[in-house]
Amino acid sequence: MATKKSNTIKLKFDSARELAPAPESKSAATIKPQYELFINGKFEKPASKKYYHTINPATEERISSIAESNQADVDRAVKAARQAYEKTWKKMPGKERAKYIFRIARMVQERAREFSIVETLNGGKPIRESRDFDVPTAANHFFYYAGWADKLEYAFPNRQASPLGVAGQIIPWNFPLLMAAWKIAPALATGNTVVLKPAETTPLTALKLAEIIQEADLPPGVVNIITGAGATGAAIVNHPDVNKIAFTGSTDVGKIIQRAIAGTSKKATLELGGKAANIIFDDAPLDQAVEGVINGIFFNQGHVCCAGSRLYVQESVFDQVLRKLKDRMETLIVGDPMDKNTDIGAINSKAQLDTINKYLKIGLQEGADMYQSSCKLPGKGFFCRPTLFTNVAQSNRITQEEIFGPVLTIQTFRTDDEVIAKANNTPYGLSSGVWTDKGSKIFNLTTKLRSGVVWANTFNKFDPVSPFGGYKESGYGREGGLHGLYAYVNVK
Ligand code: NAP
Ligand code: MG
Repeated sequence: MATKKSNTIKLKFDSARELAPAPESKSAATIKPQYELFINGKFEKPASKKYYHTINPATEERISSIAESNQADVDRAVKAARQAYEKTWKKMPGKERAKYIFRIARMVQERAREFSIVETLNGGKPIRESRDFDVPTAANHFFYYAGWADKLEYAFPNRQASPLGVAGQIIPWNFPLLMAAWKIAPALATGNTVVLKPAETTPLTALKLAEIIQEADLPPGVVNIITGAGATGAAIVNHPDVNKIAFTGSTDVGKIIQRAIAGTSKKATLELGGKAANIIFDDAPLDQAVEGVINGIFFNQGHVCCAGSRLYVQESVFDQVLRKLKDRMETLIVGDPMDKNTDIGAINSKAQLDTINKYLKIGLQEGADMYQSSCKLPGKGFFCRPTLFTNVAQSNRITQEEIFGPVLTIQTFRTDDEVIAKANNTPYGLSSGVWTDKGSKIFNLTTKLRSGVVWANTFNKFDPVSPFGGYKESGYGREGGLHGLYAYVNVK
């Protein structure tokens, strides 16, 4: 009888997960076999004559060949940006600049399906996320900043704002199109020109954006998009004719950039890593909080700088929360990112999967208890089961260091002061979340948590109007909103 009972339970879980496949079609997007560099309004071969392969991390298949920029290519791109800045863009009235940015926004919207397919094929994120989050939010950023281009005197009342010049922009692989939009839109709205480098593993949507920029008839050189690895990024940072560096990526590279630009007149915004605390009080609506925790850590496979990777649960509800969390994890569908049912797609690269697996080992060596959902993983590609660690200490590496994967640590607390001290006890300070029924508790914590963003009874909410950025080793400067304009102007 006992065996029969456990069979029934198993069957229930299996049937919950085995939905009929609902794959998005690859054929709705065209990907060229080879991509060149977008410099001065044209697609040009790299001076290096070198190309590398970009792959689909869910299948490990090659998708396309990508040009690798060397110093000469960076020089050409910066020169094109400088000429476009001096000759056209800085002189153009804001209302004219706005028309181009609105045009880009509309074209991203028109090709939203194609962009989401390419984002998912190249980056491994579920199609549901690229379709419902990445692409529409990227379009919204262009719309939002297009609206500011002719209203800068209202953004900076009684002061005169002028552009900085050529902006070098370097972005990571976790939100490739969205990060390009965050960077390009405010720079153009304020009259700067751009040289942007996407991450080595996810260049395709930025190159598709280059096609749109060409079609939108933006004056040549206003936006240049060049591909390559870390060395290309370093060449942009060190170029003497670049006036501003906008970087999103790891804290380690952020520190290299700070050292490189020290003593120069270059301005910088750095959006770096995070290790966000998500805090559940015993008076919180627990089901809603558990949904928020799941979204906070498993959205985009946990490749999110503001991911809620440290959960703090008030002691009296710990057992209940843990049980609900495990039950919910068991229903998450891990697998083919192109399937519309998938909740957790592929880890972006072999290197990132190795990093995550290294941290799983470290967690076990540190004496933590690991729990993973029982889902089957695909035979090919880079995948990781959603993972929880309990019995962890504040000093453990898995609680202190950014893992950037679907891995959550859970600790308990008794009082407000205790959880504030624990939440603030990391080198990072990008975001945090609070779940409680009491407004007074929310206000107490939002004033004391040392992070750029605090979400209350929600998590991972983004809007172009709302500024985003960090404290401490999570970087400085803000992107989004009115604050995002400041980063691209001199104010008199
Ligand atoms: P990364 O290694 O720092 O890379 C970011 C970008 O910088 C990539 O385009 C990279 O090129 C380039 N790069 C590498 N070395 C460079 C150098 N010496 N000089 C200039 N550029 C260089 O970070 P990642 O692994 O791609 O992204 C994950 C990290 O980004 C995480 O730590 C995450 O928290 C952070 N992140 C932060 C935010 C935020 O808003 N705060 C948002 C997203 C991600 P390659 O592609 O060739 O490596
Ligand atoms: Mg890297």
